[in-house]
Amino acid sequence: MNKPILAGFAAAGMMLGSTALAQDTFISIGTGGVTGVYYPAGGAICRLVNRDRAEHGIRCGVESTGGSVFNVNAIRSGELEFGVAQSDIQFHSFNGSQQFEEAGAFEGLRAIFSLHPEPFTVVARADSGITSFEDLRGKRVNIGNPGSGQRATMDVVLEAMGWTVDDFAQTSELPPAEQSLAMCDNNVDAIVYTVGHPSGAIQEATTACDTVLVNVDNDAIRQLVEDRGYYRMATIPGGMYRGTSDDITTFGVGATFVSSDAVSEEVAYQVTRAIFENLDQFRALHPALANLDATEMVSDGLSAPLHPGAERYFREAGMID
Ligand code: GLU
Repeated sequence: MNKPILAGFAAAGMMLGSTALAQDTFISIGTGGVTGVYYPAGGAICRLVNRDRAEHGIRCGVESTGGSVFNVNAIRSGELEFGVAQSDIQFHSFNGSQQFEEAGAFEGLRAIFSLHPEPFTVVARADSGITSFEDLRGKRVNIGNPGSGQRATMDVVLEAMGWTVDDFAQTSELPPAEQSLAMCDNNVDAIVYTVGHPSGAIQEATTACDTVLVNVDNDAIRQLVEDRGYYRMATIPGGMYRGTSDDITTFGVGATFVSSDAVSEEVAYQVTRAIFENLDQFRALHPALANLDATEMVSDGLSAPLHPGAERYFREAGMID
């Protein structure tokens, strides 16, 4: 007599179970400071993913974090499913080099696609007399918060120049959202940020007080770019920011979107699909994303293997063989 009821319950339970599963796939994207480009780029990714939630049941959220190094470490520990990371940080994490030597290679790191270029950007107070990276010697410099890409890249630059932090009069480790104010309050002479352009952070740094963008172009930098495949020379166009009318020459990396082999093929597939099927809308969601090129996005700056879900989408879309 109870049988049909039990069977009914079981069936209802199974249905509830599968619906709950389909609606309960939460993914978090690690980004950076809120005035950078990672945070709005992550927001743009989630917006496109969440739009199709009824179909795939994925609920995407963004987290503001310390930046690239933090993001790959949090993906490694399983705290985050996805993250944005500089191409040099992706390389070092996957290979266990540079600051990842102690932790060892993160072999489960997987590339999804690449995003915008990120020039290594140095902004100085106009009254500091700083016009090139070399002029930073003896000055007060915000070298970036630990966990950020700019801090990691700054360490590499110092090594390449044969400098240490002791070559500066004073260093601070403020996160991106606090550094403009510190410069405009005259607590530091210059700040560094590896970031896409235009960005809110650099807009803030160049409008809140009189500042200039600085060239990062010398023999040591050129050698660095020649030696390491994930670096490129880069130009920040004159006129983009107040106070700097000439083009600025520096070097840079690319922002990349990464995950791990612990994230399912289906989830990575759906996230990739949401972006590439709506690339025009994605480009329109932030000016630093405006020039994204689909062909470059599947290859540039990706040193970890492609995630099988991303690979499946690119193959189906005829973007890779
Ligand atoms: N490139 C920076 C980092 O890796 C973040 C830049 C941004 O937030 O747009 O920490």
